[in-house]
Amino acid sequence: MWKQIFWILWIGAVTWEVFLHSLEWRHLIKMKLNLNTVFDGYVQKSTVNDKNVDYAIEHLRISLGETLTNYLISAIIVAYDLPKLVDGLTAQISSPIFRAGAFGIAFGLLFWVSSFPWAWAKVFYVESKYKFNKTTKSIFIKDQAIVLSFIVLLSFLGFACFAVIFESRIWPLYLMFVFALFEIVAMILVPLVVIPLFFELNPLADEELIFKINELLRKLGINKIKVFVANASKRTLHSNAFVTGLGRNKKIVLFDTLVSSLAADEVIAVLLHELGHWKLAHALKRIGLVLAIQAVLVYFAFVMSNVGFMYDFQIQNPQQFAIYAFLLLNMVVTLFFQPCLLNFIRRQETKADLFAARHAGSSLMINALSKISTDNMAWLPRHFLYKAWYCTHPPIPERLRFLKTFTNI
Ligand SMILES: [Zn+2]
Repeated sequence: MWKQIFWILWIGAVTWEVFLHSLEWRHLIKMKLNLNTVFDGYVQKSTVNDKNVDYAIEHLRISLGETLTNYLISAIIVAYDLPKLVDGLTAQISSPIFRAGAFGIAFGLLFWVSSFPWAWAKVFYVESKYKFNKTTKSIFIKDQAIVLSFIVLLSFLGFACFAVIFESRIWPLYLMFVFALFEIVAMILVPLVVIPLFFELNPLADEELIFKINELLRKLGINKIKVFVANASKRTLHSNAFVTGLGRNKKIVLFDTLVSSLAADEVIAVLLHELGHWKLAHALKRIGLVLAIQAVLVYFAFVMSNVGFMYDFQIQNPQQFAIYAFLLLNMVVTLFFQPCLLNFIRRQETKADLFAARHAGSSLMINALSKISTDNMAWLPRHFLYKAWYCTHPPIPERLRFLKTFTNI
C-alpha cells in the first residue's frame, strides 16, 4: 500500500508543480503582450520592458528543469531500489554508524550532481545573458566545492546520528532535539563560518552613512548590531541585504552593489527593513514554525516506522528508512506545508517594510525598493498560485501598493 501512496503523491506533486510553472509561464506571456496595462498605477512604465519578462521566463525554465530533475531522481531511487544497492556497496564498513554516514554521503552526492548543471546554467547562461553575472568559472567551481563539502559533512553527520537515535524507542523526541540543536548551531555558525567563505565582509567606509546609521541605532536603542558590506560584486551585479547571527554575532550585511546604487537615505531605509526583522524577532518565529512543521513530519515518520511502510519498501536498517521516508515526506511538504511557511515568511517581509516605513517614511522605502527592483529586473507581479508556492517576498508591485496605502493613512 505504501508504494502506491508514494506513487500517487509523486504523480500529484509533479502534476501540481508543472501546473504552477505553466500558470506562471502563461501569466508572464500575457504580461508581455499587455505591458502597459499590467503595471498601471504602481510601477514606472519606463522601467518595465520585454527584457524583464524574458529574464523571468528564463529563470522559470531553469526552475522547471531543476524541479523535474529532482522528481526523476526520486522516481529512479524508488523504482530501482537504489537504497538497497548503495547499502550493499557500504556493507564492508563494519561500524553501523560509519556505514550509515557513508550511505548518507552517497545520496548527498547524487542530489548535488543532479543540481550542478542547473546551477551552472543559472549563472553562465541566464545571469550572463542578462549581464548580471560576474562569477568566473574558477570562482563558481570554488563555491561549488564549498557547497559539496557542506553536503558531505552534513549528510554524513545526519545519517550517522539518525542510525544511533533510531535504536531508541523514543527516537522522534531525540530527532526533534537534533533539529532544534541544528537550527541554533546554524544560526551561530552561518555568520562566523559560512558567509566569510563566500564574501569578504568589511566595515562600512562611507563616513556620512556611518554617522546616519549610528544616529539611527541610538534612536532605536540598539547597540549590539554591526553593519558590514559584502564584496558581492565579485560574483553578481544583483543587490541585496540580510540580517544574520545570534546575540553578539548579529550582523547586518549589505551588498556593495546595494550601497553603490542607493543614496544614503535609501540605504538607511533598507537597513531599517533588516532591523525590523531583528526587532520583531522574525528569525526566531520562523524557526518556531519550522520546528512545528518538523514535529508533524517526525510524527508521520514515527507512524510510518510502525506500520507496513518498512515491509512494503523492504527496509532493513535506519538509513534505508531515512531515505524512503524523506522522499515521501518531502512531497507532503511541497504539497501542503510549503505554502503555509512561505505565506508566514511573506507576512514577515511586509511587517519589516512597515517597520522601515514608520521610521524612515514610506517614500524613502518606495524609492529604495523601486531602484533595487530596476537594478535586479524584479518588477513583475506573479501569478497568485505561483507566488503562494514559491515566493519568499511579496512581488514588488504588492509591496509598493502596501507602502503607498501606508503613506495615505
Ligand atoms: Zn526582508
